[in-house]
Amino acid sequence: MALDLSTLIKSAALAAGFDLAGIASVHEFPDLARFPEWIAAGRAGEMKYLESRDEAGNLRRASLKSPFPWARSVIVCAVNYNTDHPYSTNVNKPGHGWISRYAWSREDYHESVLRRLREVETKLKEFCAEDPSGDPIETRAYVDTGPVVERVYAKYAGVGWLGKNTCVINQQIGSWIFLGVIVTSLELSPDLPAPDRCGTCTRCIDACPTNAIVAPYELDSNKCISYLTIEKRGPISEELREGIGQQVFGCDICQDVCPWNRKAPATDKPEFQPREGLVNPALAWLAEISAEEFREKFRGSPIKRAKHSGLRRNALIAIGNSGAQSLLPVVERASQDPEPVVAEASQWAKNRLDKTATPNRNSVD
Ligand code: SF4
Ligand code: SF4
Repeated sequence: MALDLSTLIKSAALAAGFDLAGIASVHEFPDLARFPEWIAAGRAGEMKYLESRDEAGNLRRASLKSPFPWARSVIVCAVNYNTDHPYSTNVNKPGHGWISRYAWSREDYHESVLRRLREVETKLKEFCAEDPSGDPIETRAYVDTGPVVERVYAKYAGVGWLGKNTCVINQQIGSWIFLGVIVTSLELSPDLPAPDRCGTCTRCIDACPTNAIVAPYELDSNKCISYLTIEKRGPISEELREGIGQQVFGCDICQDVCPWNRKAPATDKPEFQPREGLVNPALAWLAEISAEEFREKFRGSPIKRAKHSGLRRNALIAIGNSGAQSLLPVVERASQDPEPVVAEASQWAKNRLDKTATPNRNSVD
């Protein structure tokens, strides 16, 4: 029996190296209707790109109708990026910080996911070319950058449910996944939405150090360490700094504690293996990294997004939180830094180290 087009496309996605693939019809899902409310409540912080609007003033991400009136289906593909390394909640190495797991990879995930999506797109066009009655088809492939709320389409394509921590969680492989989507004019057979399996669990909400999950399924980016350490420019609110702990780029805590990640498989894909020094990195290194080394080390890495001064700011806050008195000389050197955001973070770190010092100033590390 001939396989239908939807099955062929999903098989092509798996052949291209994706671990999961599903299809959702284009629809005004209730989850999408909540997006404008979330933006209006100021939950997106300074991420203005999420607020881009069409000529009629509608949020471009809230509906596919305006950017792509021809769109009928969204193919959602996901690839596991988890590697065989401990979770941040199981590591406590004094003088070291934490970079979010997704940012360790050797190749920028946008590129590795997009490369796979292009393979699927090519296959899809080949399959359709075999159909003599086939009309020309439209496709657009995106990894994070398109006017699509990928997480919502992932849910309706059966790839995973939206957890209370707002991540897409797959029952088999957990939430360490990168998503990529292909919006198409083809009417494909949709999959069933993934059922919510959070149940009565509240581990992510309880573990979040800055109370950024303000209600189940609702994140306030303004308080989220991922936003603060990656997107936020300038100084970070003082009341949130202690909660940042030793996170220097992103935060994995609400995923580390999720029971669905307890048995998450590790990928052997070479491009997702960590670059040297990024798993539990030395804080002194990051606080003092030169602009040139930053450029070299993080070429093609999501870490570039924090900018040189932002990453140093984060490392100094983490040093302040670490209690590592031996890092005081690093903090003192940074207090003379010409970048105001770095000098200010170093002053805060110094005050915090002074407060947490034991009376005889024994080094804790
Ligand atoms: S990423 Fe960290 S700060 Fe953000 S919601 Fe999760 S635990 Fe909270
Ligand atoms: S920690 Fe619990 S509540 Fe949070 S996303 Fe995971 S299963 Fe859902």
